[in-house]
Amino acid sequence: MSDLNFLPGTIVTGLLSHPVGHSFSPSIHNSAARVLGLNMVYLAFNVRPDSLEDALTGMRALGIKGFNLSLPHKKKVLPFLDHHSLEVKYTGAANTIANHEGKLTGYNTDIKGFTKAIEIYGEFFRERPALVLGAGGAASAAIYSLIVEYRIRKIFIINRTLQNSALLVMNFLEHFKDVEFVILPIDEPYTATALNESGLIVNTTSIGMHPNVHEIVDLPYEALNRDSLVFDMIYNPVKTKLLEEGERAGCITSNGLYMLLYQAAESFKIWTGMEMPVEEVKKLLPQF
Ligand code: NAP
Repeated sequence: MSDLNFLPGTIVTGLLSHPVGHSFSPSIHNSAARVLGLNMVYLAFNVRPDSLEDALTGMRALGIKGFNLSLPHKKKVLPFLDHHSLEVKYTGAANTIANHEGKLTGYNTDIKGFTKAIEIYGEFFRERPALVLGAGGAASAAIYSLIVEYRIRKIFIINRTLQNSALLVMNFLEHFKDVEFVILPIDEPYTATALNESGLIVNTTSIGMHPNVHEIVDLPYEALNRDSLVFDMIYNPVKTKLLEEGERAGCITSNGLYMLLYQAAESFKIWTGMEMPVEEVKKLLPQF
């Protein structure tokens, strides 16, 4: 929490989530505000799905500058927005709202967060197929980044509910007709080939997240190719079972902490017009 005295004109921002749980976002944003000497506060609000519209009415009435959205609001928020970015249109999910004089605009900064977090590992996955575990909002951010930022043209999708994979693929194929999508059920024998061919395996499901730290999507991980990046969007725990499997296979591994930081930096810039001092923020947060 910032130790500034809040004066009239404080930029009020926050997170809408249900449950709100233990989020690192308040620490990241409040640390950034403190470093910059910015009169800004970021709070976490536990907002149930049926109260989302009321929360946004309150945002307009109170002049709250910005919200991040987490589960389960990222898709459900779309009808309540006045405008949204092209990325929101393509992914069907917004994780950031900015309030411009009562008009609410939705953005998807998870895309930028993911893009920046995997950038340094580009040599492992460029021009190779990628494998995405999950088919929700975070999956759509990852897929958008892989197609638009990294020009990946073959993507395997493995998800519990095949119908959700199909809906996701249909949405992307409307805009990106030259991308080959391969939808696989979890127990399909071909997944071993898909794992082996892929230069990037990204978990976008919540499987393995605290407190269910012993869970992992059941796949033939012995087929992993050691010249690959295994990326888990989960950051609590720091090392998931999936990342352990990646390490065992000799792959490069990364958790979702830097993605979280970079998506926060992008939201911060949208709200304040200022660059987040990410290097200083990292030093203030024990988890980095
Ligand atoms: P979401 O839209 O609700 O999607 C959840 C996905 O996980 C779906 O594919 C769902 O499969 C799957 N799933 C959930 N529980 C499952 C289970 N028990 N067994 C099998 N599959 C299961 O959620 P989201 O917004 O995409 O977020 C997903 C994860 O990404 C969360 O852990 C979130 O914290 C993380 N995330 C991290 C960052 C970051 O900055 N590091 C950013 C965004 C999200 P079905 O389709 O079958 O339901």
